[in-house]
Amino acid sequence: MKFTVLGSGAGIPSRTRNTQSYVLDAVEEINQYFLIDASEGLQHRILHTTVRPSKIKHVFITHLHGDHLYGLPGFLSSRAHQGGEDIPLTVYGPPGLKEWIDLTLKTSNSHLNYPIQYIEVSHNDQYEVEGFTIDTYLLEHTIDSYMYVFNEPEKLGKLNTDKLKSIGIKPGPLYKEIKDSVTFWHDGKTYNTKNFLSAPVPGRKVAVHGDTRVITQPDYLSLIDGSDLIVHEATYLDGEIEKAHMYFHSEIQNVLQNFSQIQYQKILFSHISNRYDEEDMEIIKGRLNENVFIAHDYLEITIPRISL
Ligand SMILES: [Zn+2]
Ligand SMILES: [Zn+2]
Repeated sequence: MKFTVLGSGAGIPSRTRNTQSYVLDAVEEINQYFLIDASEGLQHRILHTTVRPSKIKHVFITHLHGDHLYGLPGFLSSRAHQGGEDIPLTVYGPPGLKEWIDLTLKTSNSHLNYPIQYIEVSHNDQYEVEGFTIDTYLLEHTIDSYMYVFNEPEKLGKLNTDKLKSIGIKPGPLYKEIKDSVTFWHDGKTYNTKNFLSAPVPGRKVAVHGDTRVITQPDYLSLIDGSDLIVHEATYLDGEIEKAHMYFHSEIQNVLQNFSQIQYQKILFSHISNRYDEEDMEIIKGRLNENVFIAHDYLEITIPRISL
């Protein structure tokens, strides 16, 4: 899996940063991308990547602020002309999203030629997409803003061929049949397949936040504990913890301190304010550990499977 930043800025776009959109690439696993947020300019950003809009089948909107949303009607309208005709799409988001999209499409006389379904999310929902489970968590922002946690299913362990040989089963097509079944029969005896497999490989976990204050609740921390990638906003990169809290946003060191209680592989800070210039960014980056990334548009983060 791979995570691509299509827009890393906060509030309004700058010459170098589009506002918020991301793609979680699960093409290798389930032949599709998850789109998270859809800012203005999303379509242009997609054109500079290998992302195919027809392979975006699920869109997750964190909240209804314009810097996360204003590109959605354009994306929906164009998708059909980019190979998406008749390919169903599901859009997840807070209440009000469907109403706004319906009105926008109606006013502009736009018609979609593929089925679209809207799912109104709430706190602690769980959805299932091709074996992935997606959890929601209501964050703390000026309007309802959600985190989506994408959990890949675990993968079966490897077949222990030495053990199979020891009971007299020779290598061949039978091995695949055995791996695909719960039990198998050989020489008058029934065997449990799991006794012939190594430990399952855990699925990966990616937690993508909408705008939020720093949250310290234990249920929140346990939901994201063990993430392979956490994507968090950092509207404030340099101090100003109180100001961040007052405006329902986050400050980077405050987030890192909060996450010192949990385990994670990588963290990506995004929603970067225009008031930081290149020089500021270099100073701030210099203070961070190597598993902490600051987003820029088109940044790609690989999410390797960690084998036990
Ligand atoms: Zn925002
Ligand atoms: Zn917001």
